[in-house]
Amino acid sequence: MARYGAIEAGGTKFLVAVGEDPLLLEGVARIETSNQPQETMAAVIGYFRRAGRLDALGVATFGPVDFASGRITTTPKLAWRDFPLRGVLEQELGVPVGFDTDVNGAALAEARCGAGRGIDDLVYFTVGTGIGGGALAGGRLVHGLMHSEMGHLLVRRAADEVPGFAGVCPYHGDCLEGMASGPAIEARWGHKGEALPANHPAWRVEADYLAQACINVACVLSPRVIVLGGGVMEQPQLLGMIRGRVVEYANGYFPLPRIERPALQYPGLSGALILAGEAAR
Ligand code: ADP
Ligand code: ZN
Repeated sequence: MARYGAIEAGGTKFLVAVGEDPLLLEGVARIETSNQPQETMAAVIGYFRRAGRLDALGVATFGPVDFASGRITTTPKLAWRDFPLRGVLEQELGVPVGFDTDVNGAALAEARCGAGRGIDDLVYFTVGTGIGGGALAGGRLVHGLMHSEMGHLLVRRAADEVPGFAGVCPYHGDCLEGMASGPAIEARWGHKGEALPANHPAWRVEADYLAQACINVACVLSPRVIVLGGGVMEQPQLLGMIRGRVVEYANGYFPLPRIERPALQYPGLSGALILAGEAAR
């Protein structure tokens, strides 16, 4: 029986697990993302050394990442800039390492065994502290010059936008992340999303931007399923509002992808385990 290690590396926490089946993650544990990468990595490496024999490791990481070097690049987490995440793991654990973005990992897992089970064309968005998007197209994770950066799609002002709100993206101001991330909600309304009632105008605005994101990726990649995860999507009313706005934006021009919540408890971590299996081959 094969045995793999999985890491979902985030700016707040690393999740680690072992196993063979992405639906049966074993020993899921959380390690804080320290401002000293060596500290976090010592804990991660210790976990996998204690876990016994591994055939391969998979990593689904925050970014941006450079696939040629296996490094994190221009992250706002300054201590992690240029950190050679893949190289350190290969060197310390001596196994093949599958390496991709957190959202590509999540897209892969939701397509193989989650909300889009058996589907080869799927986009996964996470809407949280930041916004990220990953894509599986024709059964392959999309890479190009680097990887998708769907969080920074350009959007137009929502009909009910608060006048003068300029957005919070440090690079672009009013891109998708600038207008619809958790911090954008807090900056616009003065309260975190989790503190706003379900009938608050915030959710119409939020649904508008996320619908624009769905329409834009539908136009480019033609996915069959779009999965929307992350903390902001914990608002139960939001998914239906987004679906409705997508129908309005599409205006009958083309068939629409299914828009779903994640089916997996840990989409990124399950994706990392699948990446490990692919690295082992
Ligand atoms: P991260 O993006 O850091 O990995 P999350 O996906 O949990 O973590 O996103 C955190 C963001 O989601 C915060 O900005 C928080 O305010 C927002 N958030 C968390 N829970 C909810 C909720 N129930 N409703 C709306 N926003 C939420
Ligand atoms: Zn941006």
